[in-house]
Amino acid sequence: MSEMFDIIVIGAGTAGMTAGIYATRAGKSVLMLEQTAYGGQIINTPDIENYPGIAHVSGFEFAQGLYEQATGLGVLYRSEQVLSVTDGEIKRVKTSEAEYECKAVIIATGAKNRPLGLEREQELTGAGVSYCATCDGAFFRKKDVAVIGGGNTALEDGAFLSNYCNRVYIIHRRDEFRGDEKDVATLRDKENVEFVLDSVVTEILGEDMVEGIRVKNVKTDEVKDLSVRGLFIAIGQMPDNQAFADLVELDAQGYIKADESCETGTPGIYAAGDCRTKTVRQLTTAASDGAVAGLAAARYVG
Ligand code: NAP
Repeated sequence: MSEMFDIIVIGAGTAGMTAGIYATRAGKSVLMLEQTAYGGQIINTPDIENYPGIAHVSGFEFAQGLYEQATGLGVLYRSEQVLSVTDGEIKRVKTSEAEYECKAVIIATGAKNRPLGLEREQELTGAGVSYCATCDGAFFRKKDVAVIGGGNTALEDGAFLSNYCNRVYIIHRRDEFRGDEKDVATLRDKENVEFVLDSVVTEILGEDMVEGIRVKNVKTDEVKDLSVRGLFIAIGQMPDNQAFADLVELDAQGYIKADESCETGTPGIYAAGDCRTKTVRQLTTAASDGAVAGLAAARYVG
């Protein structure tokens, strides 16, 4: 017989773990399922300085605290990949390991790194191509590297890598940054950081590992090769909601259609955090969604 819970939370990032905290404090039995490691995207952020009430904390420390808080309050955590969820008064959640039953589901699957789509990008991931500067930066000590993107992640990655690497190129397709001006100014002051603006990477050079990149200026069409050993791709995220395509409505980008109430069109199914349609995807908004969805699911269960 399948194990039964009041609420199953899919994803143990900030939204999922916060949902677990609120639902368990509302007296419900909660199982939280995560296919990789708990913590979500924030574990890759070296220093969080915009979470209200906490001036500085590392992403890892933040996630660890959240995990201990959730499990300490009674959320049951299991590392399993969710394969499908069926609709109905009692929902069935099939995972890589088991099948569970529950009355409500909170989807908090976040988003995954967007690839650039270059030929051999996938093949060279781990051989010079990386999507996580904090995880892989130390391998490129004293080497030249490039960061692609103009958002906060690319700027943060650039700053982080500039502490290890000989030279850091920040390659952005426009001449204005999407990320915070304060971070742009910090990078401008660094002697080993060079901005390559209005430019895109057209090719990765090297046989078995990254040895360089070909870069094209989109305004002048000028092409040049940069000799770099590391290519850090930081061009945003995309959702990973295909497993739920038959269960809830997705928007054109693949995010789950749910508003600030975190309710999907399917009774008893909620979407919280970066996986849902929204304009601001931040740590605070993920935590906020977790609270809203956790309480709504607890009310639904009754
Ligand atoms: P983002 O803000 O969506 O920025 C993505 C960047 O990549 C943009 O500059 C975009 O260029 C560029 N880009 C997208 N597709 C591209 C492509 N195919 N080729 C070349 N460039 C491409 O993503 P993010 O930096 O990962 O940040 C995601 C969210 O997390 C944001 O809300 C951000 O503020 C937040 N965040 C916050 C912090 C913090 O506060 N400490 C740290 C990290 C992230 P365009 O600008 O031309 O569109």
